[in-house]
Amino acid sequence: MTEVLIVGGAVMGASVAFWLTRMDPGLRVTVVEPDPSYATSSTALSAAGIRSQFTTEVNVAISRFGIEFIRDFARHTGAAGGVADLGLKENGYLFLTGTETGALQLENLAAMQRGLGAATQVLDPAALAARWPWMALDDIVAGSYGPRDEGFFDNMGLLSGLRNAARAAGAVWLRDRVTAFERDGDRVAAVVLEAGGRRQADVFVNCAGPRAGALMRTMALDLPVEPRKRTIFFVDAPKARHPGTPLVVDPSGIWFRPEHGQWLAATVPATDGPCEPDDFDPQDDLWEDHVWPALYARAEGFGEAKVMRQWAGHYAFNTLDQNAILGRNPQVPNLYHANGFSGHGLQQAPAVGRGIAEQIVHGDWVTLDLSPLGVQRVLDAQPFAEAAIV
Ligand SMILES: Cc1cc2nc3c(=O)[nH]c(=O)nc-3n(C[C@H](O)[C@H](O)[C@H](O)COP(=O)(O)OP(=O)(O)OC[C@H]3O[C@@H](n4cnc5c(N)ncnc54)[C@H](O)[C@@H]3O)c2cc1C
Repeated sequence: MTEVLIVGGAVMGASVAFWLTRMDPGLRVTVVEPDPSYATSSTALSAAGIRSQFTTEVNVAISRFGIEFIRDFARHTGAAGGVADLGLKENGYLFLTGTETGALQLENLAAMQRGLGAATQVLDPAALAARWPWMALDDIVAGSYGPRDEGFFDNMGLLSGLRNAARAAGAVWLRDRVTAFERDGDRVAAVVLEAGGRRQADVFVNCAGPRAGALMRTMALDLPVEPRKRTIFFVDAPKARHPGTPLVVDPSGIWFRPEHGQWLAATVPATDGPCEPDDFDPQDDLWEDHVWPALYARAEGFGEAKVMRQWAGHYAFNTLDQNAILGRNPQVPNLYHANGFSGHGLQQAPAVGRGIAEQIVHGDWVTLDLSPLGVQRVLDAQPFAEAAIV
């Protein structure tokens, strides 16, 4: 019986396990995960958004499948998944630009996205003001908006349903941590476990999120993935309650979206770089120095905003091109990757898990060609950049 060992059991590991058990019930699937609470996983700390508005066709296609899967989650995962509904709020995403060049780029991207079935429309300031009259738009030339198939959903519900369904179909979650991969020539032979001992398998899948690069170094292989801290502020603004607002990506560099009558908001730190894998201290300064001024500039109602709480999570940041690194590793072909999602992996979990399972079971991508995101481009140092990184 073929043994598959998945390192990391958050949304990506759970999705790979889910699809493997569906495609080949004869496989023996083990998922090694140290933390059943998932407290510091990116999955748990995510903003839980899904959008069609990407700059590469493959990412649009991945999210097109993601939204269908999320919308129809109970049917895909069945009673064993135990999650009836992922509470999708289809508020959309709104990318604002303050330049004519930016507006032209948004038009071109919207045409590409519509060609793949998305509903993206580019709105001029008058159309934006008609929809969101409370927004200050003096500095805005255009906004790209997805009126359907984009929004926010229950991140932990997605993980739970996939994991429950995978376990019901025979996948086993082992509470432990992999401390190293052991290589034997052009194969991974085993993983070393923190609790002691090693574990052999025929096939290994690296789903270790922001720690994926560090794990590869244990067998002297490079993977350009590092943890980067992102702080999210949960904000109450009694004079700015607009629950139907999309996730707004502002030209100032911040983003904000409604959450149960309040708001989530965040920005990319000016000095961005790798962080310690165990450092989850929020970057409080970002609120007063960057996020609050930008919110206030977009709507006066944010003048009385109050931070209710804040948290920091880690992006698994791909330093080559901020895109996922997927599939078989040509250097060690019994190792597969689902890594480097750079802040957009939650929505990609359904399609990526299916793709990795197809490669393992059928030898190649089947339903969706994910080869632009394959490992070879990384080995060749040929970036395949995703520009819409939020
Ligand atoms: C602040 C923030 C906002 C985000 N917003 C969005 C968004 O709006 N939309 C979106 O699509 N994506 C978003 N993302 C990204 C998304 O959350 C991730 O891409 C996705 O959750 C990745 O899932 P994963 O399973 O690969 O990694 P993780 O969720 O990080 O899980 C990795 C798992 O591996 C385990 N692990 C690590 N090392 C080992 C080891 N040595 N041995 C065994 N197990 C190990 C960990 O315990 C963990 O459970 C956001 C991320 C952050 C941090």
